[in-house]
Amino acid sequence: MEHYDVIIVGSGLAGLTAALELTTNGKKVLILEKEKVIGGRTSSWDEDGMVVESGFHRHIGYYKALPQVLKKVGVNIDAIVQWEENIDVRIKGKKDAITFGVSPIFGPLDMIKGILGNNDILSWKDKLSLLRFFTSGFLQYLKNPDALDQFNIRDYATKHNVSENALHYAVIPLSAGIFFLPPERYSAKVFFGLFFPAIPRFYRMRVGAYLGGMTELLARPIAQFVEFQNGVIKTGTKVLSLVFENEAVIGVILEEGSKIYAKDIILATHLGGTKEILKKHFIDHPSLENLFKLPTMPAVTIQMEFTKPVLPYDRTTFGPLTSLASFAEQSRSTFTHVQGRLSIILTPPEAFLNMESKDILKHVQKEARELGLDLETNLIDYRIVSRSDDFYSLEPNLDHLRPNQKTEIKGLTLAGDYTRQPYYATMEGAVVSGLKAANLILKKN
Ligand SMILES: Cc1cc2nc3c(=O)[nH]c(=O)nc-3n(C[C@H](O)[C@H](O)[C@H](O)COP(=O)(O)OP(=O)(O)OC[C@H]3O[C@@H](n4cnc5c(N)ncnc54)[C@H](O)[C@@H]3O)c2cc1C
Repeated sequence: MEHYDVIIVGSGLAGLTAALELTTNGKKVLILEKEKVIGGRTSSWDEDGMVVESGFHRHIGYYKALPQVLKKVGVNIDAIVQWEENIDVRIKGKKDAITFGVSPIFGPLDMIKGILGNNDILSWKDKLSLLRFFTSGFLQYLKNPDALDQFNIRDYATKHNVSENALHYAVIPLSAGIFFLPPERYSAKVFFGLFFPAIPRFYRMRVGAYLGGMTELLARPIAQFVEFQNGVIKTGTKVLSLVFENEAVIGVILEEGSKIYAKDIILATHLGGTKEILKKHFIDHPSLENLFKLPTMPAVTIQMEFTKPVLPYDRTTFGPLTSLASFAEQSRSTFTHVQGRLSIILTPPEAFLNMESKDILKHVQKEARELGLDLETNLIDYRIVSRSDDFYSLEPNLDHLRPNQKTEIKGLTLAGDYTRQPYYATMEGAVVSGLKAANLILKKN
């Protein structure tokens, strides 16, 4: 009978981080991953002849735990990202993008130019309204973050007299660009909370594009280190439910029916996957009531290859008031094997979940045209990557439903970006949750 100290379900950053921490401390660990490829939402794979990824990602300069985990496995973050000091916003009807600096230390002039310039888009009155809005949001977050969760970001902006113009060209690009949600669906707590850690670490602020697929750059080095420390990783192995006996979780039941046992189980699955696994035994468990109430949210991206680059730089770009929430040329950074490569995250994601691929393509090409982009002439191929329940919903009044890593069920620990940690649904959040889960187990044994 197979027996481990800890079984971790899910090989995303949360599961891999937990495995690294546990194997470092001598635990016998098994990771079970339902997909053929490791990495979860930070993965890349070949989809019928085209290399795709779970969605284009940016490494934020203030992240601390993720670079530390990578360092531990011999990866220097500066060697695997191409840093960007600017972001672009493309506006309907305007030929050129407007550029904003995001890095006070690495690109101070661009930052100043972005704030003082762009006056044809944002007047001084608009800019002052934004200053009031951000100052008040950050102060409120510092004082009482939970109070912010009752507002959506549009209402919070209205409350602080943010002009329509500033809403369209600054707040909407950020809310749709960062979490694919229109401002009326985006919690003000999550919005300000995501920027908040950048304040004390402002000197590290910039965004990094990965110089390759995320499985290769992030997941695999951690997985290899886990294996080096005698951890076992099985891909293509779906967990159906848990073995629950004498009021304790003591193992997992695989799709093909067999059981594997362990002293502890960490569910490091995305929220939808966690609910699936837990529902058989725990749907009515009072301590998991909130988890089952927390809604999920989809993510949909279109990834396209061209005979030449579509954009002059590989830079994060927002397309406010269109479905193109955020996008980037990637042929000079992540996917250098092709001449032109664009990845676009779509908003609102639900609108595209059940749409045919060819209709999504047509819709995106039409809206891109309004942003001054031709996504037709040099197109070679495209893929839609769509996941229905990966994210927990970032809408108002839900944050209190996020569970702790520690559960009241003996033998069961949770990890994943939806569990309670201060970085919300990000790679950094996933890593922090994995560390917390591993430490809970290490402390008790
Ligand atoms: C399009 C997109 C863009 C993003 N952009 C950014 C960004 O720019 N910056 C940033 O920091 N974050 C970004 N994120 C968020 C980031 O990817 C996630 O927060 C993070 O990767 C979550 O990691 P996780 O380990 O919690 O979950 P996941 O990575 O979802 O891992 C869960 C794993 O569990 C596996 N699993 C589920 N059910 C089972 C089962 N029954 N049996 C076995 N295995 C199972 C899944 O296959 C998966 O591998 C983005 C996400 C998406 C989708």
